[in-house]
Amino acid sequence: MSSSKQKTVLVAGGAGYIGTHTTVELIEAGYDVVIADDLSNADISAVRGVEAIVGRSVPFVEVDCCDTEALRREVFEKYAFDSVIHFAAYKAVGESVAEPLKYFRNNLDSLLSVLALMKEFDVHNIVFSSSATVYGQPDELPATEQTPRQRANSPYGLTKQMSEDIIQDTVAAVPGMRAIALRYFNPIGAHPSALIGELPKGVPNNLVPFITQTAAGVRKELAVFGDDYDTPDGSCLRDYIDVVDLARAHVVAVSRMVERTAAGAEGDRYEIFNIGTGRPVSVLELVHRFEEVNGVAVPHRIAERRPGDVEKIWAATDKANDVLGWHAERDLGETLRAAWAWEKRVRGL
Ligand code: UDP
Repeated sequence: MSSSKQKTVLVAGGAGYIGTHTTVELIEAGYDVVIADDLSNADISAVRGVEAIVGRSVPFVEVDCCDTEALRREVFEKYAFDSVIHFAAYKAVGESVAEPLKYFRNNLDSLLSVLALMKEFDVHNIVFSSSATVYGQPDELPATEQTPRQRANSPYGLTKQMSEDIIQDTVAAVPGMRAIALRYFNPIGAHPSALIGELPKGVPNNLVPFITQTAAGVRKELAVFGDDYDTPDGSCLRDYIDVVDLARAHVVAVSRMVERTAAGAEGDRYEIFNIGTGRPVSVLELVHRFEEVNGVAVPHRIAERRPGDVEKIWAATDKANDVLGWHAERDLGETLRAAWAWEKRVRGL
């Protein structure tokens, strides 16, 4: 029988896009959740959306995870939990190039605070949101977890690489601690209820929010960054993973660590998993599929390549499939319909 401590998860950065979807999946799987978020890039309405889906209130603490004292006082001393999912980080690649120190300070400090408090309070498990960006442009595709990391081409990417290393060394030094780094490919879509989704502030950097805002008439047209890449239609190839599928991977990761601790399992206490579909999709294919499944036009034009973009990347998902027993389930059309339903709801269309 598991204790309530084992069945409670701290979701740091839980008011954001992936954090809200993960909180829903955790609660639906029987976990209790405490959300900690400073709301620097999220809105409290997202937590209300989670509560509307799960039909109950979710403890929420407004706190900056970099502030170790506040995090200790408001979260670690008040709640008993045995696992943390750490999402609390800045994620805008371009901004990280312009303001690297802001990214190093925030993304590393928040992780260091969380790890220090985990050690102090004997909290065993952490899931870390890493990214396919750690691979750069791999020489061979699909990217496996063994594919060598290349020097990140942005401070954002570097914080993901450094965070993985910090976690690996911390786990090695703290008996009983376990960690799973999930390397996300391109998370897209929204909850089927349309009560939560991605809500970027200002002009979206990512493809799907730009598509949905263009379809909604908020943006005039989508710029497709490059059509002269060495790919079937000349636009970049990515692996677009549904956010609900991605959220489920976090639940499976937490369960794995809790179970392995209970079983006294030997072996690696730090593990890495790619989370993607394993299927490459081009930018132009994605735009056309969105138009087709939603019956709406997305005005677009071909533009210059965006500096820093890799040409093509997609995931080998065998390890997540075999070891975690996790599979991407949602079809791309379904995902793009959910993304559009969310945008329409946000815009009152
Ligand atoms: N992209 C695009 N127009 C946009 C935003 C993105 O053509 O307005 C392309 C981008 O060049 C890349 C793909 O869409 O090939 C995914 O970009 P995104 O920023 O969503 O994720 P990334 O793969 O860069 O992390």
